[in-house]
Amino acid sequence: MRTVYWHFGLMILLGVFGGCRSTQPAAPASKWPSADPMLSVNTLIEAPEDFAAARIGSTDYPIPPYAKYLEGVKICLDPGHGGDAHKRGYKRGPTGVREAEMNLRVAKYLRELLETAGAEALLTREEDVDLSLADRAAIANEWGADLFLSLHHNAIDNKPQVNRTSIWYHNDVDYRPANLDLARYLCYGLYDSIALPQITGVPLKSDQLMYESGFGILRHAEVTAALTESSFFTNPEEEQRLRDPEYNLLEAHGLFIALAKYAAAGLPKAYLIEPEGGLVLSGPGQTLVFELDDGLRSRKSWGHDRRMILTDSIAVHLDGQRVPYAFSDDGERYLLTVSLPDDLTPGDHAVEIQFQNMNKNSVLNPHCVIEVP
Ligand SMILES: [Zn+2]
Repeated sequence: MRTVYWHFGLMILLGVFGGCRSTQPAAPASKWPSADPMLSVNTLIEAPEDFAAARIGSTDYPIPPYAKYLEGVKICLDPGHGGDAHKRGYKRGPTGVREAEMNLRVAKYLRELLETAGAEALLTREEDVDLSLADRAAIANEWGADLFLSLHHNAIDNKPQVNRTSIWYHNDVDYRPANLDLARYLCYGLYDSIALPQITGVPLKSDQLMYESGFGILRHAEVTAALTESSFFTNPEEEQRLRDPEYNLLEAHGLFIALAKYAAAGLPKAYLIEPEGGLVLSGPGQTLVFELDDGLRSRKSWGHDRRMILTDSIAVHLDGQRVPYAFSDDGERYLLTVSLPDDLTPGDHAVEIQFQNMNKNSVLNPHCVIEVP
């Protein structure tokens, strides 16, 4: 059996927790009348079906020319939570506005913006239902998303004055550098759209600050992923803004512009091209050949035959150890050749390719697992 397959399946940590903390303890399902605002179901200001469609492309919500680079990019959007209205006070603001609802509406508006620009967008949920964190990530993984965003809003106990943006990445900064690219673009997109007056010094946060094993949603993600905590619904003024479809669209547009800028700067990828069908370790000199895509050259712009990969950024790891490689660029194709050691033991071995394009965007799909017979 000889197989070579791409995946990020290097995560061995288990767990199911993720997302933001609730402000209230979860209560069991209740039969109380919904006159209790902490049990109400529809807590947002109602918006017509075409609310976003009627505004997209206006001066308030433009589709800039560079958004064309989103064309064909596969973006999975995960509206956090859902199906939790019966849990009294669960993930609600001071007057009962539910996080699950604002997350869903922002995701739907963001999808409309992305599709207008030609991106492919997929939501993990369309309705007010809950899904496990592993199931949400599996939707992104199995679809083969380029990017995966889990959309949330934040909460904090006993500090209603707090209201700021943070974007969360999994593990530490070396884990998958592309996750930081995504998080950074999203952060500045929100800074320029909802533009909260409060900021935190370092808005990109590791999910290990919350849980030792990180957020389940990010841990299970095998594709480039980040979790947005755009603002705090526990802030009374922000809670009221978050009910408003105009504000939901403003947030979605900020995320959209961020994604458009990210795509415009090129989304680098790496592809194993040799051996084609599998890996045979028949003796010394076995090599893997990868073709690198800087995300830019295929645009055939003036100067496209010049190198647009930073050579010092290239690194190849085999089972976590840095190994030598040969890099070549003939002005058409970038090739990376890796000679495997003769004494590789039977079983799975992890190969990781890292590089950055000229805009410092890291490769989206750095991990490859080779199976040695
Ligand atoms: Zn949340």
